[in-house]
Amino acid sequence: MADTFNLVILGSGPGGYVAAIRAAQLGLKTAIIERERLGGICLNWGCIPTKALLRTSEIYHYMQHAADYGLSADNVGFDLTKVVERSRKVAGQLNMGVKGLMKKNKVTVFEGTGTITAAGKVTVTQGDKTSDLEAKHIIIATGARARDLPFAKADGARILTYRHAMVPTEMPTKLLVIGSGAIGVEFASFYNDMGADVTIVEMLPRILPVEDEEVSAFMDKALTKQGITLRTATGLEALDATAKGVTAKIKGKDGKVTSEEFSHVIVAIGIVPNTENIGLEALGIETERGHIKVDGYARTNVGGIYAIGDVTGAPWLAHKASHEGVVCVEAIAGLNPHPFEKWNIPGCTYSRPQVASVGMTEAKAKEAGHELKVGKFPFIGNGKAIALGEAEGFVKTVFDAKTGELLGAHMVGAEVTELIQGYVIARQLETTEAELMETIFAHPTLSEMMHESVLGAYGRAIHI
Ligand SMILES: Cc1cc2nc3c(=O)[nH]c(=O)nc-3n(C[C@H](O)[C@H](O)[C@H](O)COP(=O)(O)OP(=O)(O)OC[C@H]3O[C@@H](n4cnc5c(N)ncnc54)[C@H](O)[C@@H]3O)c2cc1C
Repeated sequence: MADTFNLVILGSGPGGYVAAIRAAQLGLKTAIIERERLGGICLNWGCIPTKALLRTSEIYHYMQHAADYGLSADNVGFDLTKVVERSRKVAGQLNMGVKGLMKKNKVTVFEGTGTITAAGKVTVTQGDKTSDLEAKHIIIATGARARDLPFAKADGARILTYRHAMVPTEMPTKLLVIGSGAIGVEFASFYNDMGADVTIVEMLPRILPVEDEEVSAFMDKALTKQGITLRTATGLEALDATAKGVTAKIKGKDGKVTSEEFSHVIVAIGIVPNTENIGLEALGIETERGHIKVDGYARTNVGGIYAIGDVTGAPWLAHKASHEGVVCVEAIAGLNPHPFEKWNIPGCTYSRPQVASVGMTEAKAKEAGHELKVGKFPFIGNGKAIALGEAEGFVKTVFDAKTGELLGAHMVGAEVTELIQGYVIARQLETTEAELMETIFAHPTLSEMMHESVLGAYGRAIHI
C-alpha cells in the first residue's frame, strides 16, 4: 500500500528542504525524496564548498602579504589535498545538519529517485527497490546540473565542470575558465590566488555581464591587476584534450582564431535544469526554454503539482529557491502569502574583490524610463576599509529622482556580500532616500559607505 502524505517533495536542495521544514511547521505531513545527498547542490557542490575554498585562497593571499600588516610569514605554502578535505568537511557538516533538521521537523526522507506517475502519485526508485507514495500536493525541486560545451564534454581530468573543479587532485598550472558569471569568476579568483596562471574567456563584451557596467569595468581592472587574463567578446571554437593538457581554439575580438595550450579548462557556461524522467511529459507539465513554467505561487499548469528553485529558471540562486519554496508551501497551507517576485533578489560573487548587487543597474533603470539620482562612494574614503588594508572598491546607489525609491545598489570590494542585505531590507520596507539618510551607521564600519553612497546621490556625501 502507498504511504500517504499531505506533501511530497522531489529534491532536497535549498528549495526542497526549506519547503519541507516550512510545511512541517504548518502541520503538513511531509516527505522528501533525494537521489544523492541531502542539501542538494548548494551545500554539497555549490555555494558552501566553494566559499570554503575561497576562504583558503583569501587567507593564503593575506599570508603572502603579511608584511603589509607588520607580520612575517615565511615559507607560506599549501597542501591541495588538505584544502579540498576542509571544503568537503564543511559540506559534510552541513549535509548532516540538514539530516538533523529533517528529523527534528519529522519530515520523512526517502533515498532514491522520485518520479511522478500521476497527479497525486510518486514512485521512489533505489536500485531494484521501489516505494509508492501518495500526496495531494507534490513539489518538484530537482535543481540543475552543469551545462557542457556542445563540442567538448567535461572529462573530469582536463575539461572540468564545477564539480571537478571543486575537488582538484592536482593544481592547474595554466587554467582556462570559460564563462565569466559568478561561478566562473569565483573559480578564476580561487585558482589565481592559489598560484595558477588563469585566463577567462567571455563571449559578451564584459565580465559579470548581469552586473552594473561600472562594477564589470572595476572587476576587469582589479582581476587584470591580480594577473588574470580577461578576454571578452571572445568565443571558444574547439577544445582538444590530451593526457597532458588541452588545446583551445579561441576566436578573439578581431575575429582571428588562435590555438592555445592550457593544463586544464573549467567550463562555467550555465546550467541545465533536471527535468528528465520525473514524469513531466506524461502529465503535460509545461516548460519554457527547458525550465518548468510556474506562477507566483510555484503552481504548474497541472493541479497539485508545483515547482521551485533552479528547475524553474533564473536567477539560479539558493535563496531564490528557498523563498519560492516557502511561498509555495504557505499558499498550499492557505496562508495567503505575497506571490514570489524577482525584483528584490540579491546576487553575490565571492571572488577577491567581492561583488554584490540588488535591483536595477543604472543602465536598466534609465532604460525603464526613470530619472535618476546616482551616488557612488569609494572604499578609499572609508576609515575601516583603510584600517583593514582593503581600500579597493565602491558602493553605488541608484534612486528614482522623483520618488526617492532605491532602484538598485551595486557594490564591489571586501565583504560587500555581507553588506548588500542592508539595501535589500531597505527595498523590502520600501524605504526612500530620506530614511536612509537619517539612519545612524556605526563607526568605523564598511557599512558607512552605504550611508555615504546615499548621501552622495543627493550631493551630501561627507568624506569625499
Ligand atoms: C559552483 C557553484 C556555486 C554556487 N554558489 C552559489 C552562491 O554562492 N549563492 C547562491 O545563492 N547560489 C549559488 N549556487 C547556486 C545554488 O547552488 C543553486 O541555485 C541551488 O542549489 C538551487 O537549489 P534547488 O533546491 O533548486 O536545487 P539543487 O540544490 O540543485 O537540489 C536539487 C536536488 O534534487 C535532487 N534530485 C534531482 N532529481 C531528483 C529526483 N528525480 N528524485 C530525487 N532527487 C532528485 C538532486 O540530487 C539535488 O540534490 C552555486 C552553484 C554552483 C554550481
